[in-house]
Amino acid sequence: MATVGGNICLSLPAGPMISLAAALDGTATIWATDGPRRQVPVTDFVTGERANVLRPGELLRSVFLPARALRATAACRQVSLSPVGRSAVLLIGTRAPAGAGGDRPVVLTLTAAVPRPVQVRFQGLPRLNEAVDSVDSSALTAAGYLDDVHGGARWRRAMTGRAVAEVITELARG
Ligand SMILES: Cc1cc2nc3c(=O)[nH]c(=O)nc-3n(C[C@H](O)[C@H](O)[C@H](O)COP(=O)(O)OP(=O)(O)OC[C@H]3O[C@@H](n4cnc5c(N)ncnc54)[C@H](O)[C@@H]3O)c2cc1C
Repeated sequence: MATVGGNICLSLPAGPMISLAAALDGTATIWATDGPRRQVPVTDFVTGERANVLRPGELLRSVFLPARALRATAACRQVSLSPVGRSAVLLIGTRAPAGAGGDRPVVLTLTAAVPRPVQVRFQGLPRLNEAVDSVDSSALTAAGYLDDVHGGARWRRAMTGRAVAEVITELARG
C-alpha cells in the first residue's frame, strides 16, 4: 500500500506516480506550515534521485490534472531487466485529440532512465529520428542516463530510443 503523494515525494527515478502525473501535465500544490501556498509542475517537482523542491516543513497537498491531458491519446513503453522488475525506462507519449483545430501537439515524458523527469514537446507529430534525437539530447543535458543495478547507461539509452520510436509509431496510428 502506498499514497500518490508519498510516491512523488520519495522521488525515486522509477516512481510511477511521478511518471503518470508528469506525463499528464500535473501541477503540484505545496503547502507550507506558515507560508504561502505554491504550485509547481510535477515535471519540475523532482530534481534528482530522492531530491525534490520541498523545503523543510512543506507538504504536497494535491496534484491537479488538466482535462485536456486526460482527453489526449496516450501511448506508453516500460522496460525492465526482468518481467516485473524495477522500471529502467518509462516513456509516456500523449497527443492532443483531433478536432480541436491546428496541429495536435505531442508530449514525450521520460522517467526511470534518468534521475529526474525529462519532457519534450512538439507542435505536431515529429519524425522518428527527430523524436529520438530530441529526447536523447534532453536526457543528456538534464543529467544523463542512470547507470546502476537496474540497468546500465548505454542499455537504458538504447532502450529509450526504441521506446520513443514505438510510442511515436503508436501515436501516429491514433
Ligand atoms: C519491495 C519494494 C519495491 C519498491 N519499488 C518501488 C518502485 O519501483 N518505485 C518507487 O517509486 N518506489 C518503490 N518502492 C518504495 C515505496 O514503497 C514507494 O515509492 C511508495 O509509493 C511510497 O509511498 P508511501 O505512501 O508509502 O510513502 P511514504 O513512505 O509514506 O513517504 C515517502 C516520503 O515522502 C514523505 N511524504 C509522504 N507524503 C508526503 C506529502 N503529501 N507531502 C510531503 N512529504 C510526504 C514521507 O515523509 C517520506 O519521507 C518500493 C518499496 C519496496 C519495499
